[in-house]
Amino acid sequence: MHGHPLAALGGLAALLALTAGPAASPSPLADARMAEAAPKRPNVLFIYMDDHAAQTIGAYGSRFGPTPNIDSLAAEGMLFRNAFCTNSICAPARAVVLTGKHSHLNGVPDNGSTFDGAQETFPKALQAAGYRTAMIGKWHLRSTPTGFDHYEVLRGQGPYYNPVLLTPDGQQRHRGYTTEVITKRALAFLEEAASGEEPWLLMYQHKAPHRNWQPGPSEVGLFDDIEFPEPPTLFDDYATRNPGAASQEMSIATHLRDEYDLKLAPPPGLDEEQLATWKAAYDPRNEAFFADPPEGDARTRWNYQRYTKDYMRCIHGVDRQVGRVLEALERLELEDDTLVIYTSDQGFYLGEHGWYDKRWMYEESLRFPLIARWPGVIAPGSESTALVQNLDFAATFLELAGVPEAMSTQGESLVPLLEGTTPLTWRKDLYYRYYEVGEHAVPPHFGVRTETHKLIHFPDTGFTELFDLTTDPLEVHSVADDPEQQSLRGRLEARLRELAEEVGDELPPEEPN
Ligand code: CA
Repeated sequence: MHGHPLAALGGLAALLALTAGPAASPSPLADARMAEAAPKRPNVLFIYMDDHAAQTIGAYGSRFGPTPNIDSLAAEGMLFRNAFCTNSICAPARAVVLTGKHSHLNGVPDNGSTFDGAQETFPKALQAAGYRTAMIGKWHLRSTPTGFDHYEVLRGQGPYYNPVLLTPDGQQRHRGYTTEVITKRALAFLEEAASGEEPWLLMYQHKAPHRNWQPGPSEVGLFDDIEFPEPPTLFDDYATRNPGAASQEMSIATHLRDEYDLKLAPPPGLDEEQLATWKAAYDPRNEAFFADPPEGDARTRWNYQRYTKDYMRCIHGVDRQVGRVLEALERLELEDDTLVIYTSDQGFYLGEHGWYDKRWMYEESLRFPLIARWPGVIAPGSESTALVQNLDFAATFLELAGVPEAMSTQGESLVPLLEGTTPLTWRKDLYYRYYEVGEHAVPPHFGVRTETHKLIHFPDTGFTELFDLTTDPLEVHSVADDPEQQSLRGRLEARLRELAEEVGDELPPEEPN
């Protein structure tokens, strides 16, 4: 059923939970299903963000304040503390979600790759199992979407304003802020799906808050009069880290572009009314900047405030739209029959290590937010600290659709976790690999993260980093060369090779350190 031995155990346990009688299984979901002649399969609303960092969500303890509607999902559902991607970049993460397989198997190791839509995906399996399937919003996989009864997608990155959506009937131009346009189309799908008998899958996928973080007309002036707290590593010196940490091209101090990233000029593509709203918000602040431009560390701090505010404005735009969608679920009486997932393709740096962007195996970009709500199944206000991955979505949705063996994946179904039980066989560590060479100059690397430690290897330089996450959660002091850590280092290096073999990946040859 699953390629990964551990996954096979987890999947088997979950399968037993679904099929065994009440005496053999403590699963409330199984009990509920046993009580019904024809168990009802839940709808799945998959809210997928682009670059939304967990540390910017109120429910995760954000230093940027509350995100009311997203936080309400956590209050009514389960928040996952340890959700990690396998390859922290946009298109590859999307391919992992759809296939439940690592990058070396799904054909999308980097953003330059085209997704082969002929391969097995969970939307195809759900569609074959009788689900009505839709993909609305950011697709970002170059090929035409497959496995969807309905799609309206941004072909590439797409603009923040006045997007063109590709549909099976050709391209359709919309006026307005893209976060709101995507929501409007998602709401239209929900209205229609609510009148049907079959369960549905809606992948509602935002462009926001991807770079260059253009806020909508309702959020342009938000946070203008406050200062966001800085992270402790804003001025990281990268001591003990691999040489690439210092030579990357994603630093807030030097790599943000004045016009494009920092909005010192208005963006192209706005109509007259949108431009007037934009200029009313930005012009006075920009005039103050040009009258007395900050320099050195003061400029870094100014850059930090400017781009994190734009990022959070985008988040608040999404939060408001998520509120509309949750209201629609309630109004259409879909709430009780719908599993809502709120998540993102990967995390993002909000000044941690002096960075924006993602890619690295360090916590802020390795972790993605994951919140799940399903009334009657998921306990309100619950949390899971289990190590979960974006590999796991496919296996989860296949199980909920009653077709756990419809395709093979390398993930494990999250259903037992959602029900409040972490199987004893659940993974204790995970495999990561970043491949892309190019933009932002982040060197390729791979590694293993356990519940307490992380080992990362950079094959181009032969450099290895080892972090004790219990004593160094900010990952600023690699202990890879500490004499007393050599036994642990050896064990983790062996485990990394073992994990690579388990997932069927071939690691590049070792370079001398
Ligand atoms: Ca992304």
